[in-house]
Order: sequence, then C-alpha cells, then structure tokens
Amino acid sequence: MLQNIRVVLVNTSHTGNIGSAARAMKTMGITDLVLVNPVEQPDGKSVALAAGASDILARARTVNSLQEAIADCGLVIGTSARSRTLQWPMLDSREAGEKAAGESAQHKVAFVFGRERTGLTNDELQLCHFHVAIPANPEYSSLNLAMAVQTLCYEVRMATLALETQEEVSQEQEYPLQQDLERFFVHLEQTLLESGFIIRQHPGQVMSKLRRLFTRVRPEAQELNILRGILSSLQKKMQSEK
Ligand code: SAH
Repeated sequence: MLQNIRVVLVNTSHTGNIGSAARAMKTMGITDLVLVNPVEQPDGKSVALAAGASDILARARTVNSLQEAIADCGLVIGTSARSRTLQWPMLDSREAGEKAAGESAQHKVAFVFGRERTGLTNDELQLCHFHVAIPANPEYSSLNLAMAVQTLCYEVRMATLALETQEEVSQEQEYPLQQDLERFFVHLEQTLLESGFIIRQHPGQVMSKLRRLFTRVRPEAQELNILRGILSSLQKKMQSEK
C-alpha cells in the first residue's frame, strides 16, 4: 500500500531539502518522489542530506507541471501551513494519514508540498481534493519542508500499520455462529449430566455460570471444535465403562 503513496515537491529552492525529504520518505517506507520544476536539480548537497536514501533521489522524476505529477492519482492532498482565504475540505495530519492509507489499496495518492517561502499557490491548491494542515503552534506553524514531509509520511505509515493489524485480526479470528455455540452448551450439559457433575433434579446455577464463562472468553471457531472434541472423547470413554 505504501508503494502507492507519492510525495510531490513543487518548485523547491534548496537542494538540501530535497535530500532531507527523500530520507524522511525512506524511513517511513515511501519511495515515490516527484519534483515539479525544482529551482535546481538535486546535487551533492541533496545526496549528502539523503544519507542512505540516495536511491530515492536517483529514482525521482522531474516534471514541468503539478498536473503532470498528479495525473495518475486518485486522491491528491495539498499541504498548507496556514489557513487560506480559499474554503476547501480540510484535514488534519492524522485524518490525512488515515484517508491516504485507506485509499492507497485502490489508487495512487499524492501529497503535494509547496515552496519553502511561499508554499503552494491558490491555483495549485485547487488541483487538490483535500488540504492538510499539521496542527502546529498557531503562532509559528510553518515547519521546515522536509519535516512536514516526515510528519505526513509518519501518519500514513501509522495508519497503514493499523489497517494491516486489523486485517490480520479479522483473518485469524473466525468466531463460531451463535447456533454452534448453543450446540456446544447442549453438548456440555449432556456430558456433565452423564458424568454426574450435574444432577438433573438439582441443576443449580452451574450451566448459567459456564455459559457466562464461555461467552466472556468468546472462543474462536477452532477452539470450539477442540472443546467439542474433548466432550465427545469423554462421552465415548464413559459409555465404554458403563
Ligand atoms: N509560508 C508558507 C510556508 C511554507 S513551508 C505557507 O504559508 O504555506 C514549506 C512547505 O512545508 C509548505 O508548502 C508545506 O508543504 C509544508 N508545511 C510546512 N508547515 C506545514 C504545516 N503546518 N502543515 C502542513 N504543511 C506544512
């Protein structure tokens, strides 16, 4: 899913920032970098600041317009340090990470970052589906470009990891149908009657307490099968000994 996340840097002035952005991306497992009209092409300073992420720089594409950079994306999120006069659907960084992670299974998602001094123009912002502002100190809300890249890539990574764990949980745990749980309770009661643990004339509270126990534990389908197997083996043994 992280393969489908793209970082777009528009008209960056400092080549060092391009390198730092590449490093920020790679630490979060994001590799697709597109440069729109950089003031200067990546140079030695970029490579130095990219450290182990120079492969991301080497693979980065340079294009002439923002439209070209985002043409194949299904979701485009523009970044902005401050709220503009322009009213637009806004997200905070956490919501943007969740939205990007959620949609990255279906299509490419771009995060668009602006110029160091002036950010993105209104025309550029209007090419984006959503705007995201990292909710920073309102009195000093403008992060360094690469740090903004880091923060948003981190949010996308966290949201992606959360989705993966959710999927694992839902794949691994298959719960029995209610009717199967009921069959288990009937089977349990029969076995306990046969063994003499429950006496038919004085059943007491045992079955409702056991019912509460197994409901609380919520056995998975496989675990319930094991329990049914245990009951059957006990019944067989008791019958052979009669
Ligand atoms: N004065 C500019 C600040 C540019 S900072 C402006 O108002 O937009 C350079 C880039 O870093 C921004 O274009 C944006 O991509 C990113 N950035 C910095 N601070 C940010 C924040 N708080 N939220 C989202 N992006 C931010």
